[in-house]
Amino acid sequence: MTPEQVLAMAKENGVKVLDIRFMDYPGVWQHFSVPIGELEEGSFEDGFGFDGSSIRGWQPINASDMLVVPDASTAKIDPFFKVPTLVLIGNIVDPITREAYSRDPRNIARKAEAYLKSTGIGDTAFIGPEAEFFIFDDIRYDSQRNSCFYAVDSVEGIWNTGRCEEPNLGYKPRHKEGYFPVPPTDKFQDLRTDMMLTLENLGIDVECQHHEVATSGQAEIDMRFKPLLQMADQLMWFKYVLKNVAYKAGHTVTFMPKPLFEDNGTGMHTHISIWKDGNPLFAGDKYAGVSQEALYAIGGILKHCRALCAITNPTTNSYKRLVPGFEAPVNLAYSSRNRSASIRIPMYSASPKAKRIEFRTPDPSCNGYLAFSAMLMAVIDGIENKIDPGDPLDKNIYDLPPEELAEIPSAPGSLDEALAALKEDHDFLLKGDVFTQDAIDMWIDYKTANEVNPVKLRPHPHEFFLY
Ligand code: GLN
Ligand code: MG
Ligand code: MG
Ligand code: MG
Repeated sequence: MTPEQVLAMAKENGVKVLDIRFMDYPGVWQHFSVPIGELEEGSFEDGFGFDGSSIRGWQPINASDMLVVPDASTAKIDPFFKVPTLVLIGNIVDPITREAYSRDPRNIARKAEAYLKSTGIGDTAFIGPEAEFFIFDDIRYDSQRNSCFYAVDSVEGIWNTGRCEEPNLGYKPRHKEGYFPVPPTDKFQDLRTDMMLTLENLGIDVECQHHEVATSGQAEIDMRFKPLLQMADQLMWFKYVLKNVAYKAGHTVTFMPKPLFEDNGTGMHTHISIWKDGNPLFAGDKYAGVSQEALYAIGGILKHCRALCAITNPTTNSYKRLVPGFEAPVNLAYSSRNRSASIRIPMYSASPKAKRIEFRTPDPSCNGYLAFSAMLMAVIDGIENKIDPGDPLDKNIYDLPPEELAEIPSAPGSLDEALAALKEDHDFLLKGDVFTQDAIDMWIDYKTANEVNPVKLRPHPHEFFLY
């Protein structure tokens, strides 16, 4: 869409308000509104001013003036506001130098796409995330209970302790048995359909919605793959739509990776493929029907996986998911059908166009712009340096004898471990100036000061039980 077309669209839809959106560094959408009359063709270059010092992870107070410059191609009409409202996602620009801001996640994603083209490896990186989530009535922290986290579940409004110790009232799926009986066991068909159709009405293609493996309320909605930047924008809409549809129906949606003890966590398996001149680069005649480039790409992701986790699994809670026994990957290996490996090559379709690799480690607490960009940079590094991924692992990793298991490297055990890995290993992200050194350092400092340390310093509810 051009600026002219956006203005026409606003007119046609009786739009009264322009809502401008961008995300902070951790990845939460921010917004402010102006009367639609403020939007002119020139606004798509001049942008709108705001105070960058109040945004998490951004400017110091003495250099706080920033511009957000709307991107016309992102225009959508908001499905929730009372008054017809046009939403535009913007890029962050320094008002003095007019340069794109190096800590703007969307800017990093734009540079990642441009860098892929500049290498000549391909022209488009397609991304398909499978974002899972939980639907609860309410989420509460209760230090009186002797387990680590409690959520009021959406079916009976009772405390969900993460253990099967309460009477099973009302067709509630037991832990790890939610995949996927029909109603009345599945209580959320209508809510998920509402979410799916709201996304479709926004022009976001959905492939599927279903209940997920965990007890009542875990769900997944899959968007059809799109180019990297477009998918990162869509993921922001996705979280926004799901949370707002749930909220209107009296529920809460959380993308927290491990809200319930002893049940499956919430992942965001991310599929990636690269195309060049209209041809899929990852289809070929090697293992599981992939190309040599795809194997190198896998080599790149496996090599940098521990550092990548600091971006694809960026919360302290992320590492409570990456444990054995809950369909989440722990070991850094690849396989065609093995869901216990961190990289899978899906075999559903024999079509070369469908050839892609599925990185199973990420979770939806990540900032999609940063996570997809970092993944792409690892893939490019693998291809450029012909990184050998080793042999595939076609056994159930959870059942391997300890000696064999010890041979396979594993994901970091905590966010601090992942941040330490990123500190050591980030040259692959700096190429093409995609991530700047400042952006990496700031990420590590922000996460350490605002998440790792505050969690470490607080007594844990389970410590009351233990001691
Ligand atoms: N919830 C699982 C995870 O944490 C995935 C389950 C599935 O999609 N098969 O990754
Ligand atoms: Mg899935
Ligand atoms: Mg799933
Ligand atoms: Mg999957």
